[in-house]
Amino acid sequence: MKILIMVDMEGISGITSPDQVNADSGRYYAEGRQYATWETNACIKGCFSGGADEVIVRDAHMYGKNLLWEQLDPRAQYVFGPIGDIRLPDIEDCDGVILLGYHAMAGTPAAVLEHTMSSAGWQNLKVNGVNFGEIGIDAAYAGEYGVPVLLVSGDDKCCAEARSLIPGLLTAQVKRALSLSGAKLLSRENAHTLICEKSAEAVGRCFSQKPFAVSHPVTLTLEVTERTPLPSLRNRPYMKLLNGHTIEVTADNFVDAYWRLLS
Ligand SMILES: [Zn+2]
Repeated sequence: MKILIMVDMEGISGITSPDQVNADSGRYYAEGRQYATWETNACIKGCFSGGADEVIVRDAHMYGKNLLWEQLDPRAQYVFGPIGDIRLPDIEDCDGVILLGYHAMAGTPAAVLEHTMSSAGWQNLKVNGVNFGEIGIDAAYAGEYGVPVLLVSGDDKCCAEARSLIPGLLTAQVKRALSLSGAKLLSRENAHTLICEKSAEAVGRCFSQKPFAVSHPVTLTLEVTERTPLPSLRNRPYMKLLNGHTIEVTADNFVDAYWRLLS
C-alpha cells in the first residue's frame, strides 16, 4: 500500500503565527520548520504501523522547502521544491492521501491562518458554485485519480470543514483555534501521539474509503483580492471574467479546470 502525505504548515501542532510559516520574513520560521518535521515523522511512523509499504511526502507549503531533510524518517521518500504542474506527486499509483497540517478555507471566522492558496491574491474560490478551500482542492484532485483522502489534520475549523466535505472522514485536531493567530494547543507529546495513532487508523481502513468526486464538467469561480491583476482572455476560450475581480473557468474534470485557472 502506497500513501502520499501532503504537508502544509498552518495546521501543524505548535504553529499559530504567520511568523512561524513565512520563509521570507518569519521571525520564528526555524521553529515552524522543526515542528512540521517532527509531526511529519509522527505521521510516517503511523502510516507504516498501519500497514503502508511505501510513503511519499510532499513538502507542500510555499516553496516546498520547509521540512528539515536531515531529520526525516529514512523509510519515506521526499518531494521538495517547485515541481511544475504536479500538484500531488505519484498520485496515479497511490492508494490514499493524508493532508497533514492543513487549514480552513479563506473567510472562516477565528481559524488559525485561514486562507485559500494565497491570502494576498485569493479572496474566495467556488467549485461548481460551492465554497472550497485547500482540503477540497486536494480531495477533488486526488479523486480524479480514484484516490481517497484518508485523514486531515489541523485546527478544529479545518477538521470540521474536512468532515463536512467528506462525511465520516477521519480527522486529527491538534489545536482549537481562538483567533487567526491564536489557539489552545495540545502538548508536543500528545499532538504527535494523536497524529501517529490517527495515521495508523486511517491507513488501516484505506481500502474501505471512497474517493471524493465533484460532478463534471467542473466550473471554478475565483474571486481575487482588490487590485490583483486579472489574466488575459487571449487564447483562453474556457475563461470568463464575471466582473473586475471574479474569474471563471470550465473544464471536463477538476484537474484540467485547476490548471486552467492557475496557468
Ligand atoms: Zn501553507
